[in-house]
Amino acid sequence: MAVRQEALFKIKGIDLEKVELPKKVSSYFGENTFSIETMQKHISKETFEAFKVWMSEGKTITLEQANEIANAMKDWAMAKGATYYTHWFQPMTGLTAEKHDSFISITGPGKVIEKFSGNKLIQGEPDASSFPSGGIRATFEARGYTAWDPSSPAFIIESKLGKTLCIPTIFISYNGEALDKKLPLLRSDEALSKAALRLLELFGHKNVKKVFSTCGPEQEYFLIDKNYYNLRQDLIMTGRTLVGASSPKGQQLEDQYFGTIKERVLNFMYEVAEEAYKLGIPVMTRHNEVAPHQYEFAPIFEESNIAADHNQLLMDLMKKVALRHNLVCLLHEKPFAGINGSGKHLNWSLADNNGNNLLNPGDTPEDNLQFLTVLVAVLRAVYVHADMLRASVAMAGNEHRLGANEAPPAIISVFLGEQLSGILDNMTNGAKKEVSKKNVMDLGMSRLPRFNKDTTDRNRTSPFAFTGCKFEFRAVGSSQNISTPIAVVNTIVAESLDYVAQMIKKAVSGGKDFKKAVLQVVAEVAKDTQKIRFEGNNYSEEWVKEAKKRGLPNVASTCEALRALTKKENIAMFEKYKVFTKEEIIARYHIWVHTYTLVIEIEANTLNEMVNASVIPASLEYAKLLEDNLSQILHLAKTAKIKFDKKAIEDNKGHLAEVISKIYYVRRNTKELVKLLEKAGSLEAEDKGKLYFKELKPLMEHIRKHVDDLERVISDEHWDLPKYREMLFLK
Ligand code: ADP
Ligand code: MG
Repeated sequence: MAVRQEALFKIKGIDLEKVELPKKVSSYFGENTFSIETMQKHISKETFEAFKVWMSEGKTITLEQANEIANAMKDWAMAKGATYYTHWFQPMTGLTAEKHDSFISITGPGKVIEKFSGNKLIQGEPDASSFPSGGIRATFEARGYTAWDPSSPAFIIESKLGKTLCIPTIFISYNGEALDKKLPLLRSDEALSKAALRLLELFGHKNVKKVFSTCGPEQEYFLIDKNYYNLRQDLIMTGRTLVGASSPKGQQLEDQYFGTIKERVLNFMYEVAEEAYKLGIPVMTRHNEVAPHQYEFAPIFEESNIAADHNQLLMDLMKKVALRHNLVCLLHEKPFAGINGSGKHLNWSLADNNGNNLLNPGDTPEDNLQFLTVLVAVLRAVYVHADMLRASVAMAGNEHRLGANEAPPAIISVFLGEQLSGILDNMTNGAKKEVSKKNVMDLGMSRLPRFNKDTTDRNRTSPFAFTGCKFEFRAVGSSQNISTPIAVVNTIVAESLDYVAQMIKKAVSGGKDFKKAVLQVVAEVAKDTQKIRFEGNNYSEEWVKEAKKRGLPNVASTCEALRALTKKENIAMFEKYKVFTKEEIIARYHIWVHTYTLVIEIEANTLNEMVNASVIPASLEYAKLLEDNLSQILHLAKTAKIKFDKKAIEDNKGHLAEVISKIYYVRRNTKELVKLLEKAGSLEAEDKGKLYFKELKPLMEHIRKHVDDLERVISDEHWDLPKYREMLFLK
């Protein structure tokens, strides 16, 4: 029996110990976080006031006050059973990093106490030499500091045998350069706030102190049984299947989306939610996605900074909890060929400190000048900086989605919906389309309720869609840290808000009445950016042609997309808004190109090993079966004079020949692959990236095709790699 088949018999759900129903969520939500309310309970009034001023106005607290907070945090954490603490940060690997230290401190021979000072809260110095820095520091001068980010609450991570206090921090070099994903995000929010305040002032808002971006990332993922995972070298090494024949049934019946959730999966979802709630992560929605065994979690939106931390934590939790259920959570953008990949729809909007959403159209958007102004500013941001948006989601995994006949396309465009498009069209070309009657859905049956329709319909194919009161950036990869895409959206919108504000000011100083000036600017910007608006099917061939005519970039390759980071205008913008320095952004360019090449190399080497150590041996065993069978037939025909059907003999020969040829193709192409890798060895990262995209990846696809052909004919007995039909249709 193939090991694959043995695994099949071992598959079972876990026996759940817990039988009591879940507690009321509000009774424990955030219990493992040192929230602002918890802090308030544990520190003096003065220190708490100082902390609040720090958060709202940026005036830092004293070291004594920091000591007081550190002590309170330690006492709170220890009372909950924590014995270690760590500065928790997000280096440029895209993951999170933690180095734990115990609270103990020596007080005398053989004696310790638990202690935690303000200094240790505020600053840490992990040995930073092994984190990517993109050349910002040489390894011999590898000082890197973590610095407390007080805007994100500390939290406690539990494992069976202990608890650790985690303090969200940023990660910087000795000279203060950002070595992480979080600092640029924080900086971009500051830039956005300033720009938005400048615009709001024109509209007469004097009492707005701060504007920030809000974000709700919808997280897609796959779950498969751990026994199968363990037998797939490709999933273990690369997160995706490098070979594997599609099963006859995939997603074509559309019977998975929003389908009944299997009990085993539902149990996993309950536990993830419970763990998330303890950490104050407001997980809200859960459902089956389109592909078999694909699912989604969506949280209630939060301030971007917190949302980014929470998304990282949620991804960690999902992976951890899955293992407890004998499942593995796959966050890769394209774990399985032939069915949908996974993304992270980044819902993004702007809010002020009074709780107003700046992208709320209200009942009559055509009269809402401020909304229209912000709306066209976002349109312009996407139009002018489409290249940076594309770059912000460029990575090896996502390359399987963007521009590869997958959702969404690599062409960046914006969907506004009928109503808003109509309003902007009316303004730009004086047409008189009827818009904005609040539509009531009347089902015409007395037993069914009447309800208000949304102002926009949906367009699932758009990479940047307006959905009611927020934009949805759908091109983000499912495994990606969302900090960078948010930082880019924030920055380009800040730049655009400034642009629009300048235009309005100019028109007003030219003697125009304010309202007329705004209408004129909105109309002008809407007209100038018309090319970025697309309401049709983004997956269609026609759109590719149409976009080309419009001159919109369509970049399928990761490395080419990343070149946007090296463009003079882009660097100037990031420097102007103090989100990245030139060095920081160039460093990121180098890291991301390098990472791309490393990922592809790992995939190629894994494929090579799988082919040689698993696919070929299994194929040869099967070929041997065919050879024995054939020689037996020929032998019997001769010795026992059995009159076999000639065509049957030919068929046997043909089948054997086919298998032998396939084995040969696979081996020949795999040797080519090794040669290509050797050839790439001497190249610079950029050239490697190009070569991998143009030649290595197609070659891997080619090998896969032949391997999959073999999988379809080789006896089940001999094939050891779990098949799609097994991994994707577990009960
Ligand atoms: P959809 O429109 O995709 O069906 P929802 O209305 O449920 O879904 O919203 C999807 C996500 O968008 C949720 O995470 C939600 O919290 C988030 N969202 C809603 N409003 C905003 C906002 N103003 N800013 C950012 N995210 C938002
Ligand atoms: Mg959505």
